[in-house]
Amino acid sequence: MKHDESAGACPDRSDVVVIGAGLAGLVVAGRLAERGVSVVVVDRKADPSAHVHTTGIFVRKTLEDFDLPEDCLGPVVRDVRLMSPAGRGMTITSRHDEFRVGRMSRLYRRMLGECQRAGAVVLAGTRYLSSRPVAGGSVVRLDHGGHRLEITSRLLIGADGARSRVARDLGLDQNTRWIVGVEDVLPVSSAGPRRGGTNPCFECHLDPRVAPGYLAWVVDDGEDVHVGVGGYASRFNAASALEEFRRRVGINAEGGGRRERRGGLIPVNGVLGRIGCPRGLLVGDAAGAVSPLTAGGLDPAIRLSVHAAGVAAELLAGNDRALARYRGEVFGARFISRRWMRAGLDAVSSVAAMEAACWCMRTPVGRVVARHVFFGRGGSFPEPDRAIAAANRRSVPVYV
Ligand SMILES: Cc1cc2nc3c(=O)[nH]c(=O)nc-3n(C[C@H](O)[C@H](O)[C@H](O)COP(=O)(O)OP(=O)(O)OC[C@H]3O[C@@H](n4cnc5c(N)ncnc54)[C@H](O)[C@@H]3O)c2cc1C
Repeated sequence: MKHDESAGACPDRSDVVVIGAGLAGLVVAGRLAERGVSVVVVDRKADPSAHVHTTGIFVRKTLEDFDLPEDCLGPVVRDVRLMSPAGRGMTITSRHDEFRVGRMSRLYRRMLGECQRAGAVVLAGTRYLSSRPVAGGSVVRLDHGGHRLEITSRLLIGADGARSRVARDLGLDQNTRWIVGVEDVLPVSSAGPRRGGTNPCFECHLDPRVAPGYLAWVVDDGEDVHVGVGGYASRFNAASALEEFRRRVGINAEGGGRRERRGGLIPVNGVLGRIGCPRGLLVGDAAGAVSPLTAGGLDPAIRLSVHAAGVAAELLAGNDRALARYRGEVFGARFISRRWMRAGLDAVSSVAAMEAACWCMRTPVGRVVARHVFFGRGGSFPEPDRAIAAANRRSVPVYV
């Protein structure tokens, strides 16, 4: 993959500078470049498609609403198996093609190429340092292999992940609650017996010993196996919990079996309030756009970034009122029930309480709730246009 890596390829002015070439940054940069906006995309990684940190599970709503390239997706997963701390299992099966695990490096490579073909300049191996306001925008300071670069930009877009520096420099809201996730990725041939027989399966282990406040997972889609744990950093050591969990589920990732280790922080505070100002916007994890309950951030990253591209284009065209459509409060209503469910999950901190909660989930009513959480058609992020209309009805003033 060729990136515009030389400092000489860096323009000193651009309509938009996007910091971060993860899913959120690539979506917003691609959409803006396609509209003819001049865009520079900056990522500190030498190859933004390498060292991906996400499992990459895409949910049905994303698969239906966005045209993700077929060769960047694994086989369909319809079975979810919920496991209690004592190892009692319950399987729920969807009638629909519910999940697919993205081949994320390939997808990011594809999207980087599309951004470049649309005219965006990609500066890989380049770290965002800071920005300062100037008339009509910002001066963005970057470090490219020890060389200092400065770009004057009308808009700065923070797609720089859970601990966004751009959010800090723009004076916007910042994430305050995270869980940490870590996983190993193995080819199915090295991971021992198949999960769920021969069907692709998403196995979720609810056990506060290895995943305090979240869950541990084995996703086996017939090609790759992802085995991971997530939880509050203050309550566990993620690397040792993963080792313990792998032992428990009989997956030996050592001895050449493991292809990759992935991991990172996942914000679970829900979408932040102030995510836009006249100098710039936040997208993806930087905006807290992650379901507080499931920790799914891929669908929100795409949806919010598409919306951000529309708002940015209007701001560049001189319509300052467009900013009123870019506020976290507009999307917050969808997160209320998820925040409550997250609080419930947080409260279940003992093994006995989790075993009891899993017993409830095996009852007919519990199964309905589980199906709603895993297979619910609501998606993890509201459709921006609908959310704006609903906010207007709730008299959150949003000018369309
Ligand atoms: C272990 C794990 C598993 C997950 N699994 C799933 C899943 O299966 N399904 C799902 O929906 N969600 C999942 N999530 C959440 C999801 O991955 C994220 O919400 C999503 O990837 C966020 O994308 P993003 O583009 O906002 O941020 P990121 O992917 O974090 O991208 C940020 C980019 O910014 C760059 N950057 C950061 N700081 C700077 C700087 N100063 N200068 C230059 N560049 C910088 C980084 O290099 C990075 O490329 C998971 C998260 C983790 C940690």
